[in-house]
Amino acid sequence: MQAVAHPATILVVEDSPELVALLRRVLREQGFKVRSARDGESGLTSALDNQPDLLILDVGLPRRDGFEVIQELRRKGMSAPTLMLTARAQVSDRVTGLESGADDYLVKPFDADELVARVRALLRRSGTKGRVALLRVGDLVLDPVTRDVHRGDRPIILTHREFALLDYLMRRARTTLTRAEIASQVWRQASADVEGTNIVDVYIAYLRKKLDTEHDEPMLHTVRGIGYVLRPPEDDM
Ligand code: CA
Repeated sequence: MQAVAHPATILVVEDSPELVALLRRVLREQGFKVRSARDGESGLTSALDNQPDLLILDVGLPRRDGFEVIQELRRKGMSAPTLMLTARAQVSDRVTGLESGADDYLVKPFDADELVARVRALLRRSGTKGRVALLRVGDLVLDPVTRDVHRGDRPIILTHREFALLDYLMRRARTTLTRAEIASQVWRQASADVEGTNIVDVYIAYLRKKLDTEHDEPMLHTVRGIGYVLRPPEDDM
């Protein structure tokens, strides 16, 4: 392990005493300083008072849930990377968490090694440049701030509208979206004009060409009679 001058401080906000004890042990073994809070309200206070380098935040907490806590912290300008712990493996939770300002999420029960790897990756990222919540679906990565898009090592150059479309599809990954839903989200101002035209299909075709050409496994799928879904190839294996 690398020598670190100042060990990073991690605040664990989790109401299960057993899990707090486990996280404390695992993280301390890795050389981190650990603080903990047992409910959303005291987690919020501790985060603001102690300014930890990273937060591990449970979703289901007494008093204030993890989504509310992270939203409030981001509103107050706190940028520390945050890993959400969710008991539910639902996409909607992940999306809500990431939209609330979390950087990553882990579904319970998780492997301690996996947790440590995520923590390290988040700290590495926040140390190199300002905190950026990247969107990731399989090997597809979108940076909402720099607007860089990569699939694996390959950069993907998108127009403004294609970017907006992909951003929406990635935030709703694994969910089948109707043309009407896509149209109202991506062509917001002109949704009335969009209905009845094939503009969604046209842009999906543009995007599909850029995303899936040169790859054996497509990510952008047509769901006949309904619409489209973005799904990483590993889900199909
Ligand atoms: Ca809980």
